[in-house]
Amino acid sequence: MDIDQLYIVALPEVGTKRAALLEQELGARTFEDMLYHVPYRYVDRTRFYRIEELTAALPHVQVKARITRLENVGEGPKKRLVAVADDGTGEMDLVWFKGYKYVVGRLAPDKEYVIFGKPTLFNHRLNVVHPEIEVYDGQTKLSGFQALYPTTEKMKRGYLNSKAISGIQASIFRRLQERIGETLPAWFLRKYRLPFLHDALHAVHFPGSPEEVEGALFRLKFEELFYIQLHILKVKFRRKTCFKGHAFSLVGEFFNRFYDHHLPFPLTGAQKRVIREIRRDCGSGRQMNRLLQGDVGSGKTVVAVMCMLLALDNGFQACIMAPTEILAAQHHETISGLLREMSVNVGLLTGSTRKKERELIRAGLEDGSLQVLVGTHALLEDAVGFRNVGLVVIDEQHRFGVAQRARLWQKNATPPHVLVMTATPIPRTLAMTLYGDLDVSVIDELPPGRKPVTTYHAYDSRRAETYAFLRGELEKGRQVYVVYPLISESETMDYRNLEEGFEQVEGYFAPLGYRTGIVHGRMKAAAKEEQMRQFAAGETRILVATTVIEVGVNVPNASVMLVESAERFGLSQLHQLRGRVGRGGDQSYCILMTSYKISADSRKRIDTMTSTNDGFVIAEVDMKLRGPGDIEGTQQSGLSCNLRVANLGKDEGILNQAVQAAAGILEDDPDLAKEENALFAAQVKRLFKTRVNWRYIS
Ligand code: ADP
Ligand code: MG
Repeated sequence: MDIDQLYIVALPEVGTKRAALLEQELGARTFEDMLYHVPYRYVDRTRFYRIEELTAALPHVQVKARITRLENVGEGPKKRLVAVADDGTGEMDLVWFKGYKYVVGRLAPDKEYVIFGKPTLFNHRLNVVHPEIEVYDGQTKLSGFQALYPTTEKMKRGYLNSKAISGIQASIFRRLQERIGETLPAWFLRKYRLPFLHDALHAVHFPGSPEEVEGALFRLKFEELFYIQLHILKVKFRRKTCFKGHAFSLVGEFFNRFYDHHLPFPLTGAQKRVIREIRRDCGSGRQMNRLLQGDVGSGKTVVAVMCMLLALDNGFQACIMAPTEILAAQHHETISGLLREMSVNVGLLTGSTRKKERELIRAGLEDGSLQVLVGTHALLEDAVGFRNVGLVVIDEQHRFGVAQRARLWQKNATPPHVLVMTATPIPRTLAMTLYGDLDVSVIDELPPGRKPVTTYHAYDSRRAETYAFLRGELEKGRQVYVVYPLISESETMDYRNLEEGFEQVEGYFAPLGYRTGIVHGRMKAAAKEEQMRQFAAGETRILVATTVIEVGVNVPNASVMLVESAERFGLSQLHQLRGRVGRGGDQSYCILMTSYKISADSRKRIDTMTSTNDGFVIAEVDMKLRGPGDIEGTQQSGLSCNLRVANLGKDEGILNQAVQAAAGILEDDPDLAKEENALFAAQVKRLFKTRVNWRYIS
């Protein structure tokens, strides 16, 4: 039975109105879409559990117990009521953070209660937070094992609550005349002991037991991740064997002279290793597609420069793209500086490059006399024709869309090598899923002598003390960033905050003799650049800004990053911002200013920032807090990471098994041509028909 050819609108439980709602809210049109809308949790009301058999792995369960103790614990926001429940086999804590006056009034020590909730572990004690609790009347009904579905407000208003969804799922199963078509070969199901698709989908919606749900969910998640891996690894394999690239076989004059005479500092071990990896790739005769991950300040720029010199040594041109004009200009300056004594022509092309200059650059690109081009998106304009570009470096990749990269790609008959550099660490699981076909290099070492940035959390009610601290740093000759949130470029409110902030800062520091500059996205490029120049030159000592300075900007004398309304920033943004300081030899500081009342997630973000400088740890926390779909870069990457069942934050173990399984199959049958793999080939084709092209791009 092909469940992707049957439409829910035809079901009596749905109809046109609800069908529209389901499509809008869940993107569900077919039976298949609907069946993959899986419950987010299950409640087990089939029986009473004994406290001794409870574990944190169980879903919501019910127990029958007496309350033996009741006490108030803690202070402030952590203040709570704890009741100890005992059923003769063990005890557990019931915890309320609010509404506990009501609870206290209702609990009596001599009565038996039915307690319903999700067991968790806290300080090695079993715990149920905000349980449902009612007096046991001797005949409480056991009402089975139920699925609960995620719903939106709009769905609820359209009477599509969890129960209604369950009704639709039941209706789908009633209408199926045959079993749902299997999507994995029989030998594979046997090998990994997986239930049939039909049974798995049924069990997920109408489970008989927790074990059955576990087996069913495993199958669905494993399959989902397996097919993604099979697809990615297949493409990667094919590219490695079939796609020709320019062979940078020489290491010549440019590279060696720079390395021997013009490197301003010894490379770190990690930088050397990464350059070796890139050299090996570019020399292989196959096209390189490499992702270079390195935390802010780890020294990616010089790596890029050395790779570009390698291109020059082999008679090719090279280019580097940055996401903003400020960054492009800064790269241009840095790179021209590094290559000053090397007689290399380095050009800069951005949206605001004058026409005359632009024509000169074009001519130089066409006749090959311009060897290195630094730029922004303007670089992608079709008219910019290189004579022979051999290497494209893309800095801060998450700002570039896939389509843009594709255009660059088309500039040459033989594709240039592509090096994508990012300072936004990507959690391992996500990298494997999104960029599994890229080779990855990691700079996991900072240049020597860096002192880790010290991060503080400060409430904005204590602004006076914070300003006094800034003053101390300014007196030492250092410089300061003050950053305001700007969630959307059109938010007038945010701009008002920014401008008021600027006035406040200037009002405090101007009388002390320190000048303050300001940059934000609404300014003209030239004005922005002038402000940046003044700050870089130390003419202004304080820079009030929006996140336009988030990426890449390099002013080593800046020692304080003050982030206003830090609760409004995402973790990776905060980490990027912090990376703007700590670039010189002196101690630097990042101060995260928030209001007193912030959400639990915001607090977690702030706590993470104050407790670690490790970008990878931060990325992991970020993914757990936000879910992989929201991680910066994934929306724009063109590879939707909208997993239907699996969760990259939680299912790393399953992902690893899926990678193993996929790799094993491809090793034996790279084109999935064998009879026993025919179903794999058909599924890959069906699942990825619209996405396949993206894979060639980076
Ligand atoms: P990012 O990886 O964030 O792009 P950059 O390339 O801007 O980092 O480098 C940050 C700073 O570190 C620059 O000022 C650069 O000159 C310096 N740097 C890079 N590599 C080294 C090194 N091996 N030793 C000392 N300083 C270095
Ligand atoms: Mg950089």
